[in-house]
Amino acid sequence: MNSHAFAPAPSWSRAVIKVGSQLVAPDGRGCSTAHLLGIAQFIQRHRRRGQDVILVSSGAVAAGLSTDPTAPAPDQLSIPQKQAYAAIGQSRLMQHWSRLFDVPCAQMLLTYDDLQRRNRYVNAQNTVSELLEMGVLPVVNENDTVATEELRVGDNDNLAAYVAVLADADLLIICSDVDGLYDADPRVHVDASLVPVVETIDREILAMAGAARSGISTGGMRTKLQAAEKATQRGVNTVLVNGRTTEPLDALSEGTVRGTLFKRSASPLSARKHWMLHTLPSAGRLVVDAGAARALTERGASLLPSGIVDVTGDFSRGDAVDVAGANGAALGKGITQYSAADVRRIRGAQSHEVPDILEEGTSATDYVVHRDDMVLHGS
Ligand code: GLU
Repeated sequence: MNSHAFAPAPSWSRAVIKVGSQLVAPDGRGCSTAHLLGIAQFIQRHRRRGQDVILVSSGAVAAGLSTDPTAPAPDQLSIPQKQAYAAIGQSRLMQHWSRLFDVPCAQMLLTYDDLQRRNRYVNAQNTVSELLEMGVLPVVNENDTVATEELRVGDNDNLAAYVAVLADADLLIICSDVDGLYDADPRVHVDASLVPVVETIDREILAMAGAARSGISTGGMRTKLQAAEKATQRGVNTVLVNGRTTEPLDALSEGTVRGTLFKRSASPLSARKHWMLHTLPSAGRLVVDAGAARALTERGASLLPSGIVDVTGDFSRGDAVDVAGANGAALGKGITQYSAADVRRIRGAQSHEVPDILEEGTSATDYVVHRDDMVLHGS
């Protein structure tokens, strides 16, 4: 690949840098300095330039595994075993990073639940800004010990994107063991080429996600694209670079993305809409007909009862629901003005008929989801 094909690095003042398990523990166990020294140098260089850096580091499970010679292979671990090894390894991981910096490293363990609950989210936000103010390096990981399936983000690519949004960063750097996004699996197709710039994460780009999967990490390319989508939709440029050698990070410091640059959206989602789309859990699903799907996507209209053909789930007024086309295509997400039981009664009806269909006293709006409470995928 010619260097002139690489994108210029966007300027930034606050970055989140995500370091995967395969860089912390190239052998699947323990904490190695092989790749982390170069990453630490990158962080120090930019801190000296007056930029803020937040580190999201995986590797707690791998660090825990190294204390137990009888431990099963990483892919053989049960969830409780993973949680136990994460608990053993997290302090080792912190010690490991702490040795590479002159400034203190501050541990922050988060779960999806913390991002969902407003008061916890704001607390985490305040802590990050206080730590940065103090000149300390925040080191974030998922709180694996308490995070059961419903409460966890699940992978640190997505966690890093949430942290970038929470910390109001303007750059997300995902350090992996791949050079960037390829248009085909480079292990299978010798002519696969690296994609230097992604303007928008559309279906074609998502289809490339099958392309590369790295050994011990949770994510693979799919979660990297999800993370890039979350970050860019909120206005955060995202770069995917190889952290196994120092050149890509050195190049980034000198102004070139030797990897893939996912450009931030030119019209980012508001904090509220981003939170609705990516954080608020859905309590059900509304399936709409083709006419309603067009009205939503082409005109940004509100969703009326007449366009709804099917309802799943048991939700209340004010809950978030997914909106899908009759062909199953996910269209977006919105806050419903009616409970599931009421939407079942009024679906297909004209708005003026609604008050007669519902029990007396139910406050009736013309729409089921107002356009201001709707966020569409790909917007
Ligand atoms: N939280 C996990 C760990 O520290 C890693 C999750 C991931 O790699 O995405 O081992």
